Amino acid sequence: MWKILIVEDEKPISELVRMNLALAGYECRCVYDGKAAADLLTDHRFDLILLDVMLPEADGFELMEFIRPLAMPVIFLTARADVADRVKGLRLGADDYIVKPFAVAELIARVDVVLRRYYKTDEAIGIGDVVIRPGGHSVTREGKPVELTPKEYELLLLFVQNRGVVLFRDVIYERVWGPGFLGESRTVDLHVQRLRKKLGWETRLVTVHRIGYRLEAEP
Ligand code: CA
Repeated sequence: MWKILIVEDEKPISELVRMNLALAGYECRCVYDGKAAADLLTDHRFDLILLDVMLPEADGFELMEFIRPLAMPVIFLTARADVADRVKGLRLGADDYIVKPFAVAELIARVDVVLRRYYKTDEAIGIGDVVIRPGGHSVTREGKPVELTPKEYELLLLFVQNRGVVLFRDVIYERVWGPGFLGESRTVDLHVQRLRKKLGWETRLVTVHRIGYRLEAEP
């Protein structure tokens, strides 16, 4: 599930955005000033940040300087429609901006576009005889569709996005199932076994003893 951080001090707007993005299937977190956003971002990753310009503590432009090295896409929310602000936002590295008041449908459409563009989820990814099309949520093996549960699918995407990298069991658990890993959970192992079987990845999805798993990058 995509995780979005909403940095907006006007609570009615923040709540409206959060509610609608949640309905559209996004996981949202809200903070109401620049400092709280910076604090949260020092140890939490988000897939996208919606960033108001006029904020208490540190404004959106200042915060943008902080966010840029963290490599997370940003859409500015601005009440100010003047050209100078838009240009400044984009120059600072924002991926898009939206002028308040905005229609919720437009916001969601822009969020979708930025996520797809940033993470290139439209491109088909081929690994051996398995082809994954993240945009269409489809997986095929030797051209035939593979049925995966939503969790199996999320797990697969996590491995694909981190090809060649050893993923710790607790990190896998947190990214796919959310916080609350208790250390003795067999959930990750069971899902990995099912993925291996469904995709024929018995040798490709490697167990790293006592640590976790790695998807082999090379054929
Ligand atoms: Ca504001």
